[in-house]
Amino acid sequence: MSRMFLRTLRDDPADAEVPSHKLLVRAGYIRRVAPGIYSWLPLGLRVLAKVEAIVREEMEAMGAQEVRFPALLPREPYDVTDRWTEYGPNLFRLKDRRGNDMLLGPTHEEMFSLLVKDLYSSYKDLPLSLFQIQTKYRDEARPRAGILRGREFIMKDSYSFDVDDAGLEASYQAHRDAYVRIFERLGFEYVIVAADSGAMGGSASEEFLAVSETGEDTFVRSAGGYAANVEAVTTVAPDPVTFDGLPAAHAEQTPDTPTIDTLVNHLNEAFPRDDRPWHAADTLKNVLVVLRNPDGTREPLAIGVPGDREVDAKRLETQVAPAEVEPFEDKDFAAHPALVKGYIGPGALGTENESGIRYLTDPRVADGSRWVTGANVAGSHVIDLVAGRDFTSDGSIEAAEVRAGDPAPDGSGPLSLARGIEMGHIFQLGRKYAEALGLKVLDENGKLVTVTMGSYGVGISRAVAAVAEYAHDDLGLAWPAELAPFDVHLVVAGKDPSIVEAGERLYADLQAAGLDVLFDDRPGKVSPGVKFKDAELIGVPITVVVGRGVADGVVELKRRATGDREDVAISDLVARLA
Ligand code: ATP
Ligand code: MG
Repeated sequence: MSRMFLRTLRDDPADAEVPSHKLLVRAGYIRRVAPGIYSWLPLGLRVLAKVEAIVREEMEAMGAQEVRFPALLPREPYDVTDRWTEYGPNLFRLKDRRGNDMLLGPTHEEMFSLLVKDLYSSYKDLPLSLFQIQTKYRDEARPRAGILRGREFIMKDSYSFDVDDAGLEASYQAHRDAYVRIFERLGFEYVIVAADSGAMGGSASEEFLAVSETGEDTFVRSAGGYAANVEAVTTVAPDPVTFDGLPAAHAEQTPDTPTIDTLVNHLNEAFPRDDRPWHAADTLKNVLVVLRNPDGTREPLAIGVPGDREVDAKRLETQVAPAEVEPFEDKDFAAHPALVKGYIGPGALGTENESGIRYLTDPRVADGSRWVTGANVAGSHVIDLVAGRDFTSDGSIEAAEVRAGDPAPDGSGPLSLARGIEMGHIFQLGRKYAEALGLKVLDENGKLVTVTMGSYGVGISRAVAAVAEYAHDDLGLAWPAELAPFDVHLVVAGKDPSIVEAGERLYADLQAAGLDVLFDDRPGKVSPGVKFKDAELIGVPITVVVGRGVADGVVELKRRATGDREDVAISDLVARLA
């Protein structure tokens, strides 16, 4: 450490909110260059390499072969699949000196498909799984939490190639098993959840989430074993009801009721129900947004949800991808005079109605369900408006928030919610990319068939942060042995030549025994207290303190995770640790 390129910091970086970000910067693992862009320092690189090694070992064990594509790519293949456009503002686009469009790869489906197409032509060549560990670029709207969500980050991505669906299923399963082994070894609590395949457009898709309060993903689980990303949860819709005997809709004066709360209060005062009070869930709230398509065009959208629920931004984004969601602004209201703010109802919405705005409703708005909703006149609502009888929408959308206690779609009980960090994503891509790029092989009968693909990612740099989210306490990091930058942190605590010499000797002996040792040999002007604080911050699993005990032939062994300490005879130390 007297020569190591390392400066530990006493204070948290000003822009850091989550523990992993604070500690990785303070302990000298990473350093910020620009938002979402970080340098790896010697300590950080060692942990990163260990994560990489685990992932590489498990990918090779399941039969995948490593390749590496450039990060700098030509536009053409991404045009063929339309992702040059569809990726929207998340794609880093640039031009070379000849004016050719280039991009920095956000993910490499196109390149892998083209490489296999280039070299393979027969069913006999398949199945095949290829992977790379490589830097990816995404101009994330909200880079966050240091390396947890970077704009440059390291990913392991792999791709499987099969002739038929059964083959894809087997490749998917082999990847899933490899991921289970990877995440067991990384040592954080994780869950496998059903995921929406999002913009990639596949079928079966699962995510591996590190369970963590600081995660950006919300997932649900039921006692009966259902687990899904909140974006993938489907609503249990009520059965449709026949219209017979339902009262006719009637518009009523409801002055000064532009919010759900004011409306429900007014209903209970002016139009009390015989059976029970009115609830927010009896009202139909119509939320307006604007979709921005990848080509830059804007399109308004109205979403009808029960009044006791908000529209969930992430669920909505998943449903409308690749379009992005923007607020519906005053200028949009001005362009649609049929909309009366606070009193918007289905009567004005839908492609068939006056505003012409596409109108999608929550699955709970089933045929025969009765609603109180805006009458499209200021200060007026309609009561007993029946879905399917009095209004129809342009379709259904899964955009309403999911709440604890909602039923699991598979009937396995009420859902509870928790947060996680997406660490891995596996999905059956199918033939979308192979189709677009013409990846075909001859089958057993000599007929050309389109290859079916799977696509599988692990966030390597993100994993360093995710492990740190688990492996820390108030004093600093506390790495699990398999990921720690060093096996042993050897601290010389004293100026006495006998202590310094004993330290030097142990350093040599521990290294000779095959251990990676971080040796705090900083001279006497760095106090033992400072050395201990640094050791706690850096988080190597075992610290050996060489101090006054040397006179009695002992050193102190401290375990970082538990704080346990014991004196160990110098003569036994190497054997103990090895
Ligand atoms: P997220 O929902 O977190 O943006 P994603 O769905 O875009 O992730 P994929 O495209 O499936 O992610 O990428 C595979 C893996 O790469 C993810 O599971 C995650 O671990 C990692 N990853 C994705 N984006 C980032 C990022 N900006 N910074 C660090 N790691 C990332
Ligand atoms: Mg993303």
